[in-house]
Amino acid sequence: MILMNDFWQDGEGIADTAAPDGPIETRWERRKFTAKLVNPANRRKLTVIVVGTGLAGGSAAATLAEAGYHVKSYCYQDTPRRAHSIAAQGGINAAKNYRNDGDSIYRLFYDTVKGGDFRARESNVYRLASVSVNIIDQCVAQGVPFAREYGGLLDNRSFGGTQVSRTFYARGQTGQQLLLGAYQAMERQIGLGTIEMNARHEMLELIVVEGKARGIVVRDMVTGEITTEMADAVVLASGGYGNVFFLSTNAKGCNVTASWRAHRKGALFANPCYTQIHPTCIPESGTHQSKLTLMSESLRNDGRVWVPLAAGDARKPGDIPEAERDYYLERIYPSFGNLVPRDIASRAAKNVCDEGRGVGPGGLGVYLDFADAIGRLGQKAVEAKYGNLFEMYERITGENPYETPMRIYPAVHYTMGGLWVDYDLQSTIPGLFVVGEANFSDHGANRLGASALMQGLGDGYFVLPTTLGNYLAAGPFATVPQDHEAVVEARRAVEDRISRFLSIDGDRTVDSFHRELGHIMWEYCGMERTEEGLTKAIGLIRSLRDEFWQRVKVPGTGEQLNQNLEKAGRVADFFELGELMCIDALHRRESCGGHFRAESQSEDGEALRHDDEFSYVAAWEYFGADRKPTLHKEQLEFEYVHPSTRSYK
Ligand SMILES: Cc1cc2nc3c(=O)[nH]c(=O)nc-3n(C[C@H](O)[C@H](O)[C@H](O)COP(=O)(O)OP(=O)(O)OC[C@H]3O[C@@H](n4cnc5c(N)ncnc54)[C@H](O)[C@@H]3O)c2cc1C
Repeated sequence: MILMNDFWQDGEGIADTAAPDGPIETRWERRKFTAKLVNPANRRKLTVIVVGTGLAGGSAAATLAEAGYHVKSYCYQDTPRRAHSIAAQGGINAAKNYRNDGDSIYRLFYDTVKGGDFRARESNVYRLASVSVNIIDQCVAQGVPFAREYGGLLDNRSFGGTQVSRTFYARGQTGQQLLLGAYQAMERQIGLGTIEMNARHEMLELIVVEGKARGIVVRDMVTGEITTEMADAVVLASGGYGNVFFLSTNAKGCNVTASWRAHRKGALFANPCYTQIHPTCIPESGTHQSKLTLMSESLRNDGRVWVPLAAGDARKPGDIPEAERDYYLERIYPSFGNLVPRDIASRAAKNVCDEGRGVGPGGLGVYLDFADAIGRLGQKAVEAKYGNLFEMYERITGENPYETPMRIYPAVHYTMGGLWVDYDLQSTIPGLFVVGEANFSDHGANRLGASALMQGLGDGYFVLPTTLGNYLAAGPFATVPQDHEAVVEARRAVEDRISRFLSIDGDRTVDSFHRELGHIMWEYCGMERTEEGLTKAIGLIRSLRDEFWQRVKVPGTGEQLNQNLEKAGRVADFFELGELMCIDALHRRESCGGHFRAESQSEDGEALRHDDEFSYVAAWEYFGADRKPTLHKEQLEFEYVHPSTRSYK
């Protein structure tokens, strides 16, 4: 039995004091009404920093600038258009009920709370479901080319964890098209001078003055110049941290630095262990691989998942007769079949592979077969829906999925954890707001497919402009001079860290450390977690982190484009985050959503929650890399969707 004091300490509870009460349908309306307003003429006197230009940051920056605020926007790519959101393939949910199949705002709310395994806040999720319908209108107005049916109406498809068709899509490029919409809206404001765009600038520190977030320290990634940027409020839209696992479906640049720097300055980090492992990725092909590729969940609309009935069956898929195949998702979960949520589909894939029935190299794969769909709809129809995904699969694997089933295996994909925010999306540091994947707020322990884009755009286009205005109504705040001790201290911290990296002059590359950290995380804090494994992982991470600070080699200088230096900073933060993820996973002695504790499962191997003990958000406070973090619990209340055993059978 773990001694609690070995790894963390318990702190005071935390409450979301910004959340309105009363009937859930009217909470957001009431919050909008009670929020203080800023007179349009005063908005131009207020400056907001937005870190991130993905769907969350891009939509937030464009909307705030359109409203009249002065916005300073930052991203580390060479253009806002390259934010990781561009990778999103499958679609975006909205409760439009265009299919007349029984959908509603309430059903989207219900599905999301249930899909998140009853570990999300009801108020936030209801708001998300209600703004979902506005998002589609907004994007159509921007010209986003959503797929349409023959008659011209917007088309829909289904995603996991639902029995309705509510996912809007633009072939397999939904994220790209939505991002172009947000980017155009940003460009308009850049042209008007209301957004100051700073591409290729990385935020390396948060500046907190008298308890409020007032600025950031950034490094120009081309020249190495370090500057301090001040504002009345700071918004982080810096995305998720799945790359702590090294191999993931995320863009290689995705990292935790912006959030982690804020965490070190006092922002609580919530539910860090909630990681989404996506069931439909192309299996790993070798030890030198640096990236995994997602095959969109939309493929499970028409693809059927199966493995051979017998362990060790090495025949080609086409040689295995129907009677000797196990369509295990359809067998175990007849009502949702291939469209069970991601956590369930991933674990089921792992189970059949553990039984020796996996396919492909190393037995780490299952088939996703389109033969039925091609027979039923014809190849042309399948191509029209998924053509670019099939092409991508063929380019990577050399196999033609129209002729032979795809091979897929689960991979790290999304992080439900993130900086703790209240209903207003404000962190525990006043003036620091967090939107999109970077916050923890809406998906509980498991995100349903097509709801990250919904949340990012909901936060940026509709929620933040109201709640941030409420905060800014008390501004403009006193100007902070560049020689203020908080500014000087933050800047010095960045400079010292960079000099330290450059002076170690060790003998191991940053990537070799990152790969080893990722391996520890996947092995012990991946699809299945145990007390023993997590305890071991914490020890391994600590000693690897010590070794990193002794042996890492960062060539070059700080005054130039230096990708090794950039990576060193990110990996150093991943070490601290990885340890916290393991501590969080260790303390949560239940299985829920993406967090499967082997010690907590039902007789038939399904995840077993313990609502009496763990129905809370775990919000962690930082006290130093070598000191125990403090756990603050936010109790979750369920007035509408009562926790029950999640069943997709
Ligand atoms: C392959 C793939 C497919 C997906 N498909 C779907 C889908 O079909 N539907 C769905 O709903 N979701 C999907 N998702 C999830 C979804 O794409 C993401 O959750 C979402 O796009 C995140 O958006 P974001 O704006 O929060 O962050 P990102 O798009 O990750 O943007 C982060 C931004 O922050 C900036 N940034 C980060 N750190 C710093 C720093 N320190 N300094 C300066 N700038 C910084 C980056 O430059 C970038 O501009 C998919 C994810 C993947 C990996």
